[in-house]
Amino acid sequence: MASMNVIDQIVNPFLELLAPRHCEVCGSHIGDEYHRFTYMCEKCADRLPVFTDTDLLRTRIFENFDKDDVSLTNVQSLFSLKSAFQYMELIHSLKYYGKKRIGYELGLELGQKLMRTSMNDHDAIIPIPIHHARKRERGYNQSFYISKAVSEILEIPVQEHILKRERYTKTQTLLSSYERKINVSSVFQVNPKYIDEVRGKKFLLIDDVITTGSTFNHCGMALLEAGAIRVDAAALASA
Ligand SMILES: [Zn+2]
Repeated sequence: MASMNVIDQIVNPFLELLAPRHCEVCGSHIGDEYHRFTYMCEKCADRLPVFTDTDLLRTRIFENFDKDDVSLTNVQSLFSLKSAFQYMELIHSLKYYGKKRIGYELGLELGQKLMRTSMNDHDAIIPIPIHHARKRERGYNQSFYISKAVSEILEIPVQEHILKRERYTKTQTLLSSYERKINVSSVFQVNPKYIDEVRGKKFLLIDDVITTGSTFNHCGMALLEAGAIRVDAAALASA
């Protein structure tokens, strides 16, 4: 991708002069020499806690939803935060500090993993949408950058307008478990303008982190209700 080459060749070295980069995981200084990741040192990259137990993510969703309400077929994650919570800093910087390259670079890794596990036969990739007010405030949806990279590896287009997020999710911790379910389920909808692009199609949902799987599952439900035939999901990290 041309724009990323420009970032690699011109923008990053320039930024390096202005502000030395540090590994988001361990804090060590990252020098000018080649690194696989812009914001992660080689040591931390080698120790990335690769997620292997994919059944666990499906089980988790089954614990939170009735069997009939489970919309996802396959769920994958690149790494696990379970015993390596320091890697959460990568997600934090991607989300709140504008370090979109973290999403792109880890997205390439996620794409390779999806390719190896045969999760690569979708019609389109859909980044989990954030509310437009939040997007305006933050300037971007972090899941879009992950999706962009996955799209390049799998050669499947990104369709970011199919799903809409209707409103802010209230802070989940203040709600009862029933309210929590209602709160999320009414948030995601298929944009009626794109309904024809959903019918009969297979989708891959992409997000930064999967916790209970509730967001993914609700998005999946909205897509199936609109006529999609299969929905899978993948995140950078599972918490
Ligand atoms: Zn490090």
